[in-house]
Amino acid sequence: MNLLRITPSTNSSISSRLWRLSIFLLLSLPDSKGRAIWTAHLNITFQVGDRIISQLGDSGVFGNHSPLERVSGAVVLPERWNQNACNPLTNFSRPEQADSWLALIERGGCTFTQKINVAAEKGANGVIIYNYPGTGNKVFPMSHRGTENIVAVMISNLKGMELLRLIEKGVYVTIVIEVGRMQMPWLSHYVMSLFTILAATIAYLFLCCAWRPRAHNSSMGRQRQIKRDVKKAIGQLQLRVLKEGDKELDPNENNCVVCFDIYKPRDVVRILTCKHFFHKACIDPWLLAHRTCPMCKYDILKT
Ligand SMILES: [Zn+2]
Ligand SMILES: [Zn+2]
Repeated sequence: MNLLRITPSTNSSISSRLWRLSIFLLLSLPDSKGRAIWTAHLNITFQVGDRIISQLGDSGVFGNHSPLERVSGAVVLPERWNQNACNPLTNFSRPEQADSWLALIERGGCTFTQKINVAAEKGANGVIIYNYPGTGNKVFPMSHRGTENIVAVMISNLKGMELLRLIEKGVYVTIVIEVGRMQMPWLSHYVMSLFTILAATIAYLFLCCAWRPRAHNSSMGRQRQIKRDVKKAIGQLQLRVLKEGDKELDPNENNCVVCFDIYKPRDVVRILTCKHFFHKACIDPWLLAHRTCPMCKYDILKT
């Protein structure tokens, strides 16, 4: 049971280390670069033949510098081959029936700020940027300082390509962007770490507190039991009163090794299982303390 071997100083040093780590994590919270991420619900509507199809999903995230507002409009691509809208002369093929429109732009080629500004200058009501090819469903909150007046969201490459193909086929697509939920991935990460460490500290301290008295009690209990067994074993050992003529009275042969005195008639002696004998008054306290014969170390509990 290793816990029994943990000294109070080891205990306190482990606990204090855990506490220091918790405090460090707490203090490092304001330094974390994270901020709240707002998801964007995209309600996409388009017509295929006679059917009007509507898709609603948690498919994007608002940019870090985007206003958190509902915005809607027809989805419009940059004209010609260049879909990244980095060129300030980029035009958007806006359908005539659209009062408001949202630019759908490919990520890359220049900063987010540049392409958002190009679309804003052409009169877009919002900008949807789709992620790089090969990134699947991944999205992340863009940084686009200086474009705080226009809604900008990022959607996944897969969703972007889906919209792109529809519009290239001449399908009229409209989107309503709505503010979704707030997410704090950095917070959940720190809170989880902090809670894990705190829980570990509390569990550790609890175990130490709960275990110690129990361990202490059980060891005390064992000692008391041994004491009772020793007393019982002593009581079962033979007693004899020496009398004149006994060979044990020969001072050249025997004397009590506890008190070094010779045996005299009427002395009460205790005879151990190993056949060694001593004054009862000498050997009983000795056995209570040592359990063994002072001469041959025979354990009286082994009988
Ligand atoms: Zn003696
Ligand atoms: Zn002995």
